[in-house]
Amino acid sequence: MIKSRFAPSPTGYLHIGSLRTALFAYLFAKKKNGQFLLRIEDTDRERFVEGSLKNILDSFAWVNIVIDEGVILENDNIIQKGENGPYIQSERLDIYQKYIKELLEKNNAYYCFCSKERLDEMRAIQEANKHATGYDGYCRNLSKDEVAQKLAKNEKFVIRMKMPDNGLTVLEDMIRGKVEFKNELFDDQVLIKSDGFPTYHFAVVVDDHLMGITHVIRAEEWLPSTPKHVVLYHMFGWKVPQFAHLSLLINEKKQKLSKRNGDVSVVDYVKKGYLPEAFVNFIAFLGWNPGDDREFFSMSELEKEFDFAKVGKAPAVFNLEKLNWYNKQYIMKMSAVELSERCRSFYAEKNVDIKDFDLTRVVALEQGRANTLLEIVENTSFIFSENIYEADLLVWKKSDKIKTKENLQLTLNFLQDFSGVWSREELEVGVLAWIKDKGLGNGDVLWPMRVALSGLNNSPGPLEIAGVLGKEKTLARIKIAVDKI
Ligand code: GLU
Repeated sequence: MIKSRFAPSPTGYLHIGSLRTALFAYLFAKKKNGQFLLRIEDTDRERFVEGSLKNILDSFAWVNIVIDEGVILENDNIIQKGENGPYIQSERLDIYQKYIKELLEKNNAYYCFCSKERLDEMRAIQEANKHATGYDGYCRNLSKDEVAQKLAKNEKFVIRMKMPDNGLTVLEDMIRGKVEFKNELFDDQVLIKSDGFPTYHFAVVVDDHLMGITHVIRAEEWLPSTPKHVVLYHMFGWKVPQFAHLSLLINEKKQKLSKRNGDVSVVDYVKKGYLPEAFVNFIAFLGWNPGDDREFFSMSELEKEFDFAKVGKAPAVFNLEKLNWYNKQYIMKMSAVELSERCRSFYAEKNVDIKDFDLTRVVALEQGRANTLLEIVENTSFIFSENIYEADLLVWKKSDKIKTKENLQLTLNFLQDFSGVWSREELEVGVLAWIKDKGLGNGDVLWPMRVALSGLNNSPGPLEIAGVLGKEKTLARIKIAVDKI
């Protein structure tokens, strides 16, 4: 069975680039009826950020990526599920000890007692001579006795792998094809650090093997390390998994996506009111496409269509306008009832008291105009409490204050006596017929009415707003405008 994985380090939030990596790994597994595993790589204790694990798992729940094995959320609690656990590396230290022993015994790894001072000096000399920097193998050939003596004296050590000094390491990448590396370019990677923790390079190989990972799908930045991993697989005599290294994600200025240039965490997009289904659709297209002009894919459609043959090598460009476009399209397609449900928590967040209003009608005002749920909430705030505006705003460009006051009063009178059903549709028929009948101009009546109801330079139309506000609030706001001007 195919098994892919995502292996975040708990150093903060889930980056959108990481979400893309995870999504591709997930879709690949699902397409092949396989499993998706989540492992936590927390061997770098200095970079640990409290709460990040929950944050990462919440982001997965938001986009509806279902984790089959590993660290998962169950009823909002973090648990570990599966037979190959633990799935958090700091809980697997005894496992790494067992496997490092095996490498030491096979003479594929060795103790290195070099001090920091020696390593710094070595590096300085290499740099001065314009040589490649890297460990020079000083401790590679210590005798058994020398090692035993140093250990007995409790000298500080790390354990390094014995990288072959010649030959080639070849790997087959699902995106890049065959990639070859000269072994001589690699120094002897530390596998166990002086604090007893494994390095990423050691833990990733041991875990991917023991957890039955068949496909390692990860970011391009790991490609240069992969030969070391392949050599480790060979040393253990384990089957080498398939690899896919995803190209970089960049912004339109060709920069790496970073906090300085905009929002990079998935949570930022949740807070802004992007819909998870639109977000996933957008993310899937960062490097993949279906090979034809279809643009809308649900998660289950992606699970059927995804294919690495259609994933490009070029960096993928994160285009916010495109994301906004997707989001707007998904908002437009949604029923107003569902849209109002999705907006509810955003109104609550802004302490908007919605109880006197039909939220379905309120959000419908902005459906088709707004890009995000947050925009809907912000752009409809004038419905819930009156905006403060300048009297001059009431005056349409071709009109003046006196005429505007007159027209507002006429509108007020007409609406007071309006006996039809108070809905946008009936108001539209009634008001437009009345304007015509009286020989008034549409702009002369509708502009001041719109401003009276919204207090805004730009808003939905006045009859739409009146339908949502109801008769009483509509009349009250027009009255205020008459008094104001
Ligand atoms: N822990 C690594 C990271 O956060 C995972 C790399 C890998 O997938 O092998 O990038």
